[in-house]
Amino acid sequence: MIYEDENNTREKLFEFRKTNICAVCKGGLDVFLDADLGKAFLACRNDRSHQGILRIYEPTPFEEKGYEAFNIPTRREMMSEELGTGKATKLVKYVGVVSLTREQAMEILSTIWPDAPEVEVLKAAMICHQYGLNPLMKHVFLIPFKRRKGGQVVGEDWVAVLGIKANRLIAHRAGDYSYLDDTPRIMTAQEQERIFGEVDDSKVWAITKLRDSKGNEAPGYGPWPLDEVPYGAEKGNTKTNMAFIRSERNALDRLFAGEMPQGVEVIDEEYASGQILEGEAVGEPPKGGGKSGEQAENESGEGKPGTAVLSPPEARTEATPAAQKPKRDLNTIKTFGDLYQACLDDFNMDRQAVWDELGVSSQIDIVETPRECYQRIAAARQ
Ligand SMILES: [Zn+2]
Repeated sequence: MIYEDENNTREKLFEFRKTNICAVCKGGLDVFLDADLGKAFLACRNDRSHQGILRIYEPTPFEEKGYEAFNIPTRREMMSEELGTGKATKLVKYVGVVSLTREQAMEILSTIWPDAPEVEVLKAAMICHQYGLNPLMKHVFLIPFKRRKGGQVVGEDWVAVLGIKANRLIAHRAGDYSYLDDTPRIMTAQEQERIFGEVDDSKVWAITKLRDSKGNEAPGYGPWPLDEVPYGAEKGNTKTNMAFIRSERNALDRLFAGEMPQGVEVIDEEYASGQILEGEAVGEPPKGGGKSGEQAENESGEGKPGTAVLSPPEARTEATPAAQKPKRDLNTIKTFGDLYQACLDDFNMDRQAVWDELGVSSQIDIVETPRECYQRIAAARQ
C-alpha cells in the first residue's frame, strides 16, 4: 500500500488507481482512508497486504498507426503543417506503412531531411526496414549537429536517432510489458549507493523497473548531467525527463535483450517536432562499438554549461581503454546468453564467474548491456 505524502499526494493516489493495477494479483486498486492517521492510502482491492503497483504498456493509436490514426482531411492538414505541403503530398502514400522497404524508407528520410548525408540516410533506412519503423510516425529522426574545433564551427554531423515511443513499440511487438512501482522515477542517494557503490552528484539518475508477461523483471538506470540543458528545454523538456527515457531504454534493453536496436541514441520525440533539432553537439551519441573514454571526455570538455545537448557521453560504465580492440565482433553480443557463451569461449569463464567479475549475484543486478559487460571483462584481460 502507498500512503499519501509530499511525493504521493491524494490526487496522485487517485491517478494511480486509474492507471495502475496490483502487481501481485493484477486486481484493481482503491484509495482507502486510514482513520487513525487521517491519511489516505492506495491498496489492492482484493488484499490490502499486496505490495506493488504496475502499469501495463499500451500504445496509443498514433504510436501504432501514425497519421493513419486520423481521418484523411486531418491527416493531410497535420502533415502539411509539419512537413510542408510539397513533402506531405509526396509522402502521403507511406502513411501507416509499417513494413517499409529500405528504398521506401530512404525516399521518406531524404524527402524530410534533404541535407542529410546518404550514409546516415541509409543507416536510418536500415533501422526502419529491420524494425518495422516509419519516420512519418516519428519513430526515427535524422539530426544535424554543429561540429566544433577549438570553439569554431567547422562543419555539420548528422546522426540517426530513435524516439522513445519507437523503442516502446519495438519492445511491445516482442511481448507485453509493464512499468512497476510508478517508475520511471528519480533514484535516491541511498539507491545509488546500494546499486553503484557511490553517489554521483554530477548527474540526475533515474530508474525504471519493467516486468514482462512471463514475470521476468529488469531494472534500468539512466543519467543526465546536471550542468547540461537538454534539447527542447524551451518547449518543456527537462533533465529529469531525459534521465527517465534513458533509464527506460536501459530497462527495455535488458528485458528484451537482443530485440532492441543497438548503438542508436534515444530521444524524446515530443520535443523533436519540426524536422530539425538544433542541438549543439557536445559529445556524440554513443556509436556502435563505444568510443574511448578519453575522447568522449575531451569532447564534453568543449561544451559550456547551458548549451543544448542531445547526448552527453553515456556514463556509469567503466571507460573502455582506447587501445582495447577485442577480436570478437561486439555486435554479436546481444543477449546475456551471448555474453555467457562469449566469456566461456574467450576467457573460459562460466556464468557464475562472469557475475563474480561484474560484482553481482544474479543477472538482474547487472547494470550494463551484455556488450558493455563483455567489453569490461575483456578490458581487464588486456
Ligand atoms: Zn492484489
